[in-house]
Amino acid sequence: MKRVPYFFSNLTYWRRFNRLVFGDSLLCPKCNLAMSENYKLRYLWCKYCRKKYRYTSFKAGLFYSTKLSSKQLYQLIWCYLNKKSIDTTRSLTKLSYPTVERWIARFRDHLPETDVGKLNGLVQMDESFFGRVRHKQDQVIVVGAIEAETGRIKLELVPNRSSKTLSNFIDGHISHKATVITDKWRAYDEISMFPREHLSVNHSIGEFRFSNKIEGLWSEIKKHIRRMYQKILTNKLKPILNEWQERHNNPRLFESADTFTSYLFQIS
Ligand SMILES: [Zn+2]
Repeated sequence: MKRVPYFFSNLTYWRRFNRLVFGDSLLCPKCNLAMSENYKLRYLWCKYCRKKYRYTSFKAGLFYSTKLSSKQLYQLIWCYLNKKSIDTTRSLTKLSYPTVERWIARFRDHLPETDVGKLNGLVQMDESFFGRVRHKQDQVIVVGAIEAETGRIKLELVPNRSSKTLSNFIDGHISHKATVITDKWRAYDEISMFPREHLSVNHSIGEFRFSNKIEGLWSEIKKHIRRMYQKILTNKLKPILNEWQERHNNPRLFESADTFTSYLFQIS
């Protein structure tokens, strides 16, 4: 778990965001000459065009006309990237619970859906139930696969774990050249994985090393959701699964707050 760092002043993040949007030399988008920063009034000034620019209104993407301070925005992004709970984020940013929750949902909804093609090599596959009957929740099933060598993953919400459903998942997401490792769930007996190789392992006799990666993934995702929302909210699961796919398949996007912020500035 990453420790919360020391955050700098609002001015630091204001200047950083200006540079992410207008470039390191803060050139005017219209005449391409250097602008000056007016921190007190929170705008950039082009004396040639006699025009004001703000990063919150120029190609601001998600941040269009936001009232949050630059420091609050930066902290929100840092917490999101590092999977901090809503409570931690709230106490850092001094924002309300619903505000933090709304921003996290926005980040999640604006993630790309990176197509990494089909998984190959050794692929561990499994299904997992999300939600709990004793919390009076609908249980939903997620089927997932992880490429052992690279950690790339595929996750899908499915209506059941019949052989037809699993078979569709395999055809959609796993290469013909892969070796698929599953548990001994009976639906797999009826699936032809051909020309893929299929290895089914028996959990009851402790063959966990073949499924350690997918088991680890389930527990990570469930822990993350519980930390965020105390319990697993199955109605929010779809965007969360996409987020996890992106975290595994597109890790560079989540590497630093600057990379992630630049991405958010580019989308609208
Ligand atoms: Zn200008």
